[in-house]
Amino acid sequence: MKSTIKIISTVFLAGVFSLSQGQNLQPCGHDLVIKKIEENNPAYRTNRDIWYNTALQLFDKNSAQRRINRDTLFYTIPVVFHVIYNNAQENLADPYIISQLATLNACFRRLNSDTTKTRSRFMPVASDTRIQFVLASTDPSGNPTNGITRTQTSVTEWGNIQQLNDNMKFTSKGGQDGWDPSKYMNIWICDLRDPTYGEVLYGFAYPPDGAPNWQNSTQPVNSPFSGVVLHYKIVGINNPLANSNYKQGKTAVHEVGHYLGLRHIWGDGTGQSGFNNCAQSDGIDDTPFSSSPTGLCDTMKNSCIEQANDQPDMIENYMDYSPNTCQNMYTRKQSVIMQYVLNRFRTDLSTRTIAIDTVSDKEGPAAITMFPNPFRNSFNISVLNAKGSKFYCDIYDMLGRKTKKTIEIQTDIDYPVNTEYLAEGFYVVEIFNEGRSEMVRMKIIKQ
Ligand SMILES: [Zn+2]
Repeated sequence: MKSTIKIISTVFLAGVFSLSQGQNLQPCGHDLVIKKIEENNPAYRTNRDIWYNTALQLFDKNSAQRRINRDTLFYTIPVVFHVIYNNAQENLADPYIISQLATLNACFRRLNSDTTKTRSRFMPVASDTRIQFVLASTDPSGNPTNGITRTQTSVTEWGNIQQLNDNMKFTSKGGQDGWDPSKYMNIWICDLRDPTYGEVLYGFAYPPDGAPNWQNSTQPVNSPFSGVVLHYKIVGINNPLANSNYKQGKTAVHEVGHYLGLRHIWGDGTGQSGFNNCAQSDGIDDTPFSSSPTGLCDTMKNSCIEQANDQPDMIENYMDYSPNTCQNMYTRKQSVIMQYVLNRFRTDLSTRTIAIDTVSDKEGPAAITMFPNPFRNSFNISVLNAKGSKFYCDIYDMLGRKTKKTIEIQTDIDYPVNTEYLAEGFYVVEIFNEGRSEMVRMKIIKQ
């Protein structure tokens, strides 16, 4: 863990975040969530610190083994969006929800086009989290679903920045009961306006709490509160109701980060707006110390001086409060924490796929390559040393949908795959043999 010496700047964008009532804007209600959790579980922070250390130590211990195997798990999480509306405007149309899911996938898989804006000093730690999302296709009763529920309510607003309001999660309180939280990630979309302070809260999420080995814990990981809540005005791409800083759907990326265990990069704290004195870490050592949330895309911001290898504040990180336009990365160790949550706490939530890391890996018996990338109307797949095994190819879009029927690949030649039917954009190609004992999975770009 890096140590810090002093605060050089606590100048925070009061003009951006302060309201006339003297109440600070909280784009995210994480502090309120933690306060509520601690009412039932005073040992919450202690338990969290313990499992953070365990997760990161395990990562370091196993890193040599990972380099040998190059095998990597991918995690796919089914999502259900619950739209709770009082008027037609709040009944957010499907395309915003679809674009929100696509944004989650792009950001978590580091496929978004603005990853090029990550400053070079942070590129080495910028990470594909290997976590992706699909709209639920089956509801808890086993019936087909589009992964979106719609509930009309007499409740006009749900925000409360003094005391967290979770009523949208309960049908009996005018909201919608969540689906089994051990099997689905529930995202409620509603009007989070605070009756007194107005548009000050854009989302909140419950981190995993109450794993069986936690002490004094009363709130199980899969309690009815588990999930993410978003203000309807900031959901999706180019939502016309969104403030200009929140038009790229990245509030959801931030909140799902909390849901999977992440903290704010400034580590929160006890001062005004959670400011700290640079002694408060987020528990992650590849995010530089920061004393406060960031209000603008200020690449000069360096609120804490680290004694060795000083770094500016990582305003690119989704777990800052910086505007959507400058957020473009999770770090490697943030990914470790989120994967740990899926392996240890939210254990039934995701399906896991074992895949070989990149096409440059040649450890497997077959040598599999795909080229060119980016491509236009076709690309080639070469499978050498297949030893009689049949190989196949699937292409998935950013929503995790298969774009075409599975293609069988002829081995030992440069086998052309027609992609004229694909629109320009990012996709994932999977090349695999029967039984999937050998598989390559990679990001591809149609230009
Ligand atoms: Zn937050």
